[in-house]
Amino acid sequence: ADSAKRWSASTSPTWLPRTVSPSVAGSPQVGVLAYQGDVREHAHMLSLLGADVVLVRHPAELARVDGLVIPGGESSVIDKLTRMFGMLHPLRERIATGMPVYGTCAGLIMLADRIEGAAPGQQTIGGLDVTVQRNAFGAQAESFETTIDASVLGGAPLHAAFIRAPIVSEVGPAATAFLTLDDGRIVGVEQGNLMGTSFHPEVSGETRLHERFLARVRAVA
Ligand code: GLN
Repeated sequence: ADSAKRWSASTSPTWLPRTVSPSVAGSPQVGVLAYQGDVREHAHMLSLLGADVVLVRHPAELARVDGLVIPGGESSVIDKLTRMFGMLHPLRERIATGMPVYGTCAGLIMLADRIEGAAPGQQTIGGLDVTVQRNAFGAQAESFETTIDASVLGGAPLHAAFIRAPIVSEVGPAATAFLTLDDGRIVGVEQGNLMGTSFHPEVSGETRLHERFLARVRAVA
């Protein structure tokens, strides 16, 4: 059953299950929360970077992974499914005990302690001491691409795609802003083993954020 939930770049672009799961020695087991959103893009990126990818929907799958990516998509839907599958508390527990997590866009919203513009009844997993404002760029710029200073990651500015993206409107004392737009708006935050970005590096071929996340995973794996 395990092998059916694994994902490998070699099976792209379909969801064909592997019949064997050739776990490369030393590859970290990295989960992608796989209810909704751009699961496939993250799985592809992580796989290219050498991770052994596990699609995570149930507590037993979560228990197997050393780190987790929460994809972009629709945070209110991801929230509902997370609770329906009994994953809210297991996720909070793993986060509290240091599992590295990277959330993009809706995934960032899921990691935020506070949200503005929540859907009725919407909850988050939390962990990042930040407030995020959903759909903060408004109707006129729902989706756009831009470059962001990435000296903190080393190297060239990063090319980022924003798709109905949230903005980090407040950073509490426990969290740190590490990526900002030229106008100062915060689009990347970190706190211990948690990282969230408003944008989607997995759709623009930018690997540095996933590498930063994987370095944390390898450190705890
Ligand atoms: N607007 C979406 C939400 O509120 C996030 C969009 C995205 O993840 N690309 O969940």
